[in-house]
Amino acid sequence: MPPKPLVYNGTLVERIDLTDALSLFRIQPDDPPKRDEQGAWFTPGQYCVIGLNNEEKPELGSVRRSMSIASAPEHTGPIEFYIRFVAKPESENPLTHLLWKRQAGQRIYMRPVAAGVFTLKDTVGLDDPRYKILVAAGTGSAPFVSMARSAVHRDPKADLSKLVILHGASYDADLGYRDELDGYVKNNGLHYYGTVSRPQQCPNWHGDTGRVEAFFEPARLVDLEKRLGLGEGGLTPKTAAVLICGLQGTIGSTLTSLIPRGFVPDFKRIREALGVAPEVPASLFYEQYDTEPVIDIKDPAVTEPLKAQLADALHKLAS
Ligand SMILES: Cc1cc2nc3c(=O)[nH]c(=O)nc-3n(C[C@H](O)[C@H](O)[C@H](O)COP(=O)(O)OP(=O)(O)OC[C@H]3O[C@@H](n4cnc5c(N)ncnc54)[C@H](O)[C@@H]3O)c2cc1C
Repeated sequence: MPPKPLVYNGTLVERIDLTDALSLFRIQPDDPPKRDEQGAWFTPGQYCVIGLNNEEKPELGSVRRSMSIASAPEHTGPIEFYIRFVAKPESENPLTHLLWKRQAGQRIYMRPVAAGVFTLKDTVGLDDPRYKILVAAGTGSAPFVSMARSAVHRDPKADLSKLVILHGASYDADLGYRDELDGYVKNNGLHYYGTVSRPQQCPNWHGDTGRVEAFFEPARLVDLEKRLGLGEGGLTPKTAAVLICGLQGTIGSTLTSLIPRGFVPDFKRIREALGVAPEVPASLFYEQYDTEPVIDIKDPAVTEPLKAQLADALHKLAS
C-alpha cells in the first residue's frame, strides 16, 4: 500500500535555482508557527519534514523527507530549505524528483514542527567557549547557515569569531550562501572557508581546493590551526568541538582524521567500538543525510587502529 496522500498545508512561495541541481525552496505554512518570547519557533540546526504527492503516478502515493532549515528561527517570512536534486535516488518515489517539478505558487506539505538535536544547545551547549568547527559538504551547510543567521538576527554585531564554517562542493557555483557568509566574515568575525573538489573546472576559483574533509588530513591540519591562531597540534577537544553535516564520506573521513587528536564521537555504538569510557564527553557531533555506516564498527581492521590512536590521544590530553 503506498503512503496516504498528504493534505497540503503550505505554499512554495519562492524557488531560487542556484544551479540545475541545487535550489533554495521557500515555504510559507498556512498556520504561523508558535514562537517563543524571543520570536524563535525552532532551534538552529533542526529540521522539518516536507512532502509531496506523486500526482503523475498516484499509485506511488506520497513521499516525505527531512530537510534542515536554513532560515533563522526568528525570521518571520517563508521558511527556507537548501536542497540538492538527487540524480541517483534509492527509492522509487524520490521527493527531490517531485520537488524539482514544483514552481512558486504551488502547494506543498510541511510538518509544522521542527525536530532534531543537532543544535549548539543540545551538543556543546550555548556557553561553550571553544571553537565550533562546522563541517559541511553540499547542502549540509543549511543548519550552520541557520546558526549564523540566527546569531546575527538577534544581534547584528554578534561575535561569530568562534564559529568556523568549512564548506565543500564540487564547483564554486555549488558553494551556496557564499556571499552571505563572506558578509559575516567581514562584519562578525566568522571564519568561513569554501573548498572545491573540481578546481580544474572552476577558472575563477582562487580559494581552497579538495574535499572539505581534506582540511583535517595530517599534512593540512597545521594550516587550519594557523588560520585559527592555534599552534601546531593545538586543534584538540580542549580548543574545539566539531559538528559535521552531510553524507557518510564527509563524516567518516573527518572522524577518522580527528581521532588521533582525541575527538570523541557522540554516537554510542562507535564510542563502544572505540573503547571510550562513558564519562568521556563527546567532542564531535554529526547529522547524517544518508544511511551508510559512518565507519565499519564490525571490522577490527578499521576499529583497532582507531581505538589505539584515540586511547593514546586521550591519555596525552589528560596528562
Ligand atoms: C535530518 C536530515 C536533514 C536533511 N536535510 C537536508 C537538506 O537540508 N537538504 C538536502 O538536500 N537534503 C537533506 N536531507 C536528505 C533528504 O532527507 C533526502 O534524503 C534527500 O532529499 C533525498 O531524498 P529523495 O526522496 O529524493 O531520494 P531517496 O530515494 O530517498 O534517495 C536517498 C539517497 O539520496 C542521497 N542523498 C540524500 N541527501 C542528499 C544530499 N543532500 N545530497 C546528495 N545526495 C543525497 C543519499 O545517497 C541517500 O541514500 C536530510 C536528511 C536528514 C536525515
